[in-house]
This record gives sequence, structure tokens and C-alpha cells, in this order.
Amino acid sequence: QPMIQLKNVTKVYPNGTRGLNNINLEINKGEFVVVVGLSGAGKSTLLRSINRLQDISDGDILIDGQSITHAKGKALRNIRRDIGMIFQNFNLVKRSSVLRNVLTGKVGYYSAWKSTFNLFSAEDKQKAYEALQQVDLADKVYVRADQLSGGQQQRVSIARVLTQNPKIILADEPTASLDPKTAKSVMQYLKMLNQEYGMTVVANLHSVELAREFGDRVLGVKSGEIIYDGKMSETPAAV
Ligand code: ADP
Ligand code: ADP
Repeated sequence: QPMIQLKNVTKVYPNGTRGLNNINLEINKGEFVVVVGLSGAGKSTLLRSINRLQDISDGDILIDGQSITHAKGKALRNIRRDIGMIFQNFNLVKRSSVLRNVLTGKVGYYSAWKSTFNLFSAEDKQKAYEALQQVDLADKVYVRADQLSGGQQQRVSIARVLTQNPKIILADEPTASLDPKTAKSVMQYLKMLNQEYGMTVVANLHSVELAREFGDRVLGVKSGEIIYDGKMSETPAAV
């Protein structure tokens, strides 16, 4: 069964804008999918719908066979635990250490009070440390997050998602605030999660060059519809 499946998904915003228009899409386990399209095409709407940061208006979205559209309470939390998020602005707690930022992602809804009272186990800390080694930040463990460069901060958020150990990673413009060289490096770490840990990755990208280099499969989005699905080398200029 597909890891992510959209069945006739439509999202209409309250003002009448169609963010997504009757989308059908299957993404299999282990795929590295890049979503491209102009600003306003519907890329963020697609990602926000997949993990239900926002509700869709019609259709159904299945995560590893389970409907996230109709899930409630504990079932919804369990599905969401399998989905890691990477954001353009890193979403780190700026004044906290790198280690604490990685740990806070791991423990789900206990995170706030565990973090407040320092209730992280030695095992949790070891896992976080190992994740930081994977993104080559082992020497920054106790540095405050806001003292790192943009690229380093994004690597912290990648380590955080690694300790969460999700089946799926959704990355919404993960490189938009980085220079081209740093952007490429961040994409390489995302690719590492995909190749070494088998995580299914869906990333929205502005950069066609990065999409061409990293997307095994590229989705071209326009006006809430998928107008291209294939290899980037064949992508029409219209996307
Ligand atoms: P990006 O294009 O970088 O993904 P955003 O997701 O913030 O930027 O916004 C994309 C488009 O959606 C913009 O044209 C913005 O005006 C519009 N938009 C975002 N939020 C709203 C909103 N709450 N109401 C109306 N339009 C919105
Ligand atoms: P992208 O990520 O490709 O820039 P979005 O998914 O942000 O595109 O936006 C798709 C369409 O939905 C755009 O027309 C945008 O203006 C609109 N949109 C996005 N968010 C909102 C919102 N909260 N309210 C109303 N319209 C929105």
C-alpha cells in the first residue's frame, strides 16, 4: 500500500480560493519527492493537508493505509507521530541549546513539561547526541540554537526529526532562507535520512536546480493541480 495516498482531495479556503483541486496522488515508501511550482500554486497547502495542519474540504488522505482525514484523538496523534516536519524558518527554540532542541522534538506531547523539568533520560540524550553526529553537529551540542548559522540550524531540525524516527518527512521550503551552497548541503542531509533510514521525503522547493539534482520524482503544481509527475529532466518549462 502507498505510504501517502490522496483520493480526490480538494481544499477550498473560506474566501473561495481553491488551494487544491481534486488531487489524486500516491507516494510509496522510500520515495524522495520534490514539489515545485510558482508561489501560490498550492505546494504548502498540499503539505499542510497531508499531516492535517489544516483540514481538507473534500476527499480523503491515507497515511500508510490509515485515513488521517477522519482520525481523532489518540489515533490522530499516532498517525502524526509518523510524520516529521521541516520548516523554512527551522522552528527552533532560539534560546535553548542544540541538544534540548533535538530532545524536545522526540517526546511528543510530553515534551513541554519534560523539557521544563529536565526529565530527559540518559537514553534520550544518547539518541539525540547520535542524531547530531549524523548531521555533523556533535561539537555544537551545548551551543545555543541562535548562535548557529542558518544551515546549522536546519541541520538541528533534521537531527530532531531523526530522533522522532517518522516514516514520512514533509519539508516545506527547507532551503528557502539559505544560500545555494548551504541549501545543497541541507538537501544532502535530507537525502541521507531517505537513503540510510528509508524515510519517505516530500519537499517543496523553489529552486528548480535543487529539484533537478535531488528529486527522484518531481511533482509540478499549478493552480491547485498536479500538472507534472516524473523526472525533472523532462519537466516542461511551464511548471
Ligand atoms: P509562500 O508562497 O512562500 O508559500 P505563503 O504560503 O505565506 O507564501 O503564502 C502563499 C500565498 O497565500 C500568498 O499569495 C499569500 O497572500 C496567500 N495567503 C497565505 N495566507 C493567507 C490567508 N490567511 N488569507 C489569504 N491569503 C493567504
Ligand atoms: P504555495 O505554497 O505554492 O506558494 P499555497 O499553498 O500557499 O501555495 O497557496 C495556494 C493558494 O491558496 C494561493 O492562491 C493562496 O493565495 C491560497 N491560500 C493559501 N493559504 C490561504 C489561506 N489561509 N486563506 C486563503 N487562501 C489561502
